[in-house]
Amino acid sequence: RTPVTPRHPPSIFETMTRLARQHGAVNLGQGFPDADGPEWIRSLAAEAILTGRADGVEHANQYAPGRGDPALHRAVADHQRRHYGMKVDPDREVLVTTGATEGIAAALLALVQPGDEVLAFEPYYDSYAAVATLAGARFVTVPLTAPDFQPDLEALESAITGHTRILLLNTPHNPTGAVIPPAVLSQMVAVCARHDVLILSDEVYEHLVYEGRHHPVASVPGGWERTLTVSSAGKSFSLTGWKVGWLTGPADLVESVYSVKQFLTYSSGPAYQAAIARALPDGDGFLAAQRDRYRSARDTLVAGLRSAGLDPVVPAAGYFTVADLAALGVDDAQAAAAVLAERAGVVGIPVGALCGPAEHPGGPAPFGSWMRWAFCKSPDVLTEAVARLQGLG
Ligand code: PMP
Ligand code: GLN
Repeated sequence: RTPVTPRHPPSIFETMTRLARQHGAVNLGQGFPDADGPEWIRSLAAEAILTGRADGVEHANQYAPGRGDPALHRAVADHQRRHYGMKVDPDREVLVTTGATEGIAAALLALVQPGDEVLAFEPYYDSYAAVATLAGARFVTVPLTAPDFQPDLEALESAITGHTRILLLNTPHNPTGAVIPPAVLSQMVAVCARHDVLILSDEVYEHLVYEGRHHPVASVPGGWERTLTVSSAGKSFSLTGWKVGWLTGPADLVESVYSVKQFLTYSSGPAYQAAIARALPDGDGFLAAQRDRYRSARDTLVAGLRSAGLDPVVPAAGYFTVADLAALGVDDAQAAAAVLAERAGVVGIPVGALCGPAEHPGGPAPFGSWMRWAFCKSPDVLTEAVARLQGLG
């Protein structure tokens, strides 16, 4: 038969994690914490699995309701009220998804028709371009620029055409850690309203903000009616493997996403959902402590990278710091990533891999000399990584 080639190459995260294993390198590439989330949350899931029962869940080991555990709907709605003063109907305006990844995929597949355009700022989280393409859309990017990485609204508006359906926004931003202030979000909503563009807002790093605070785009005037907001317990509670995510927004948009989600996964693990339904109302103490730990981890890594001759961006939020390797005379971070894994024993993610060559036909993708490093790691791991990078110089 005709051989089949993969539709997408392996993701950069998988590639770099494999490289780290191969060379026994410190893995500051893929963003996952090296300390699991609180034991009391993990115990709730374990107990639910062992007994088959949990608050609000009839069968903790059998299919959950397709829209998710109603207790988690209530917890998400209450979370939006408590943290952002938003009024969300738990029955009609919340959908549980298998991680934020499924929320993003189901939303694009539900709301985008072949030939539509999906807009995003670049660099961007890798699934955005892949899923836009699966939906048959054209993926169009608007560049962010160092050092503040704030969206250029004029550039955004000029990138909008009669085919633009959705703006895929990410605040706090992966990989740069930029947080978009409410005044800019309001202007962005006005731009989208002028052109009847929907917003899909990926806010998975909402609880990892070290300077200032997070503002959901759906909370600014005019934002709610055109926005679907995606978040996830993975980052907030250091449980990335659980893949418990959710999406909030106006009932018609949520229902449309559900109509697709039911044919992607149908439902996701009820024991994990039940545990997160308790973590959201009761976990604020953990979130605050984690934020303090990561702020200090950020400062350790930034100081270490500076002492290795780099000028890293001090991120306001998130798991990562980015730096231009041109300061060390390196102009190709993709090539350098492999060399650093082998010679220095430290793995990062080349930022150029989070920019699409397809969006820059004939020219180099931006940020080709930039590298991203994760700091959601213990102080010992970060100190070891920095010592290895210094040793290289
Ligand atoms: N969006 C962004 C910006 C991310 O960094 C990630 C990585 N975790 C995701 C979405 C995916 O989240 P989840 O693991 O909940 O699917
Ligand atoms: N979100 C994490 C990152 O940006 C990892 C995601 C993944 O491995 N797909 O590194």
